[in-house]
Amino acid sequence: MTAPIRPSRPRQPEEPARQESLRTLNLEMVFRHILAAGQPISRTELATASGLTRPTIGRIVEELLTGQLITEAGLARDGRAGRPRVGLTLSRTGPAGLGLDIRADGLAACVVDLTGNVRHLAFEPSAYTDGDAGAVLAELARMAQTAIDAVSAEYLTVVTATLAVPGPVHAGVVRSAPGLGWCDVDAGGMLRGFTQHLELPITVDNEANLAALGELYASDNTLDSFVYVSGGLGIGAGIVLDGQLMRGARGWSGELGHVTVHPDGKPCPCGSRGCLHTYASLEAILSDDPLPEGTSPDAAIAARAEAGDPGTLVALDVAGTALGVALSDMLNILDIDTVLLGGSFSLLSSWLTANVRTEIDQRVLTAAWAPVTVRPALLGPDAAVIGAALTSIDQIRQHPIAWLAQQPERSDRVRS
Ligand SMILES: [Zn+2]
Repeated sequence: MTAPIRPSRPRQPEEPARQESLRTLNLEMVFRHILAAGQPISRTELATASGLTRPTIGRIVEELLTGQLITEAGLARDGRAGRPRVGLTLSRTGPAGLGLDIRADGLAACVVDLTGNVRHLAFEPSAYTDGDAGAVLAELARMAQTAIDAVSAEYLTVVTATLAVPGPVHAGVVRSAPGLGWCDVDAGGMLRGFTQHLELPITVDNEANLAALGELYASDNTLDSFVYVSGGLGIGAGIVLDGQLMRGARGWSGELGHVTVHPDGKPCPCGSRGCLHTYASLEAILSDDPLPEGTSPDAAIAARAEAGDPGTLVALDVAGTALGVALSDMLNILDIDTVLLGGSFSLLSSWLTANVRTEIDQRVLTAAWAPVTVRPALLGPDAAVIGAALTSIDQIRQHPIAWLAQQPERSDRVRS
């Protein structure tokens, strides 16, 4: 007979730690019910859904209201009979999440509230490809301050920030971002240094991963398994399988730009040959044609394609085909049925999609009876910065107790 699995040390019911954890578990469970409701939910409905007593629900709701995590909004009707009751819903004031993104054509900042609504979105065109990480991060710190000031006027407090970067990241250090000229740059540490006065926890993540999370949240659960392909300073892929981002053993999955398309092809900055990057990066599509002053690379490519420039149209054909070849390998292995073209590729999707689809139809074994969807990302070029902001606020949505624990400290700071 198999022995039951027991905790290594039985907990004592009277232990304060247990009481505290029970309080946390109940509070977070009630908050999750309010999150999942999607519409105002009454205290009675919460008691039924959670199995907790009315007095316990009343105490938790009071704590969530005081902490600005929820608000009373309108009336919710319970069941078919009875009088309408006060509904509870997520607050549009209180905690907020900040996202920052380094794009091919500039820098972006975004703030979302607890409901996931974008409350601030700013973009500043720039070209930062000379390897000066300090200049880029100082500029982002300035944009972060502007964003925080803008939303504080709407009674929102930014509690955490996430920075999206075009390359693999480990513990805040960007291992390689050839498009920026960065190698082993401690972006997290540097940005924390520039924003020291804000006392803001900062996480750094790969932009394709964050964009994929942004698309996942924005799809309202209609997307389950997909690959988000990000074109820009490099080519990255955010892979979502069964509703979960697939990061890989060290968090470095999705380096689609360095998948081999032609083994004897052109040399790639990574040291290999014939990578997708050498056919489909913005740099490859632009070839050696200089950009007009102040023009972003993706906008310049789109303008040339619209004007019927033969060289640009051929380069886009080559890029679309190479992208389709590389993606087909991924789809054959992972059984994914949706491809989202994001970042700069969302702007160029009209010229890329047909060739991507042709290659997938020919090369993905199951495509004949289960066609693969190829379409631009819902959030367009803002997917990564919105995904970064949503990832930030998700920390509070998952653990509201962390925000509540800071409240006395915050009010002390305001008073002093
Ligand atoms: Zn490469």
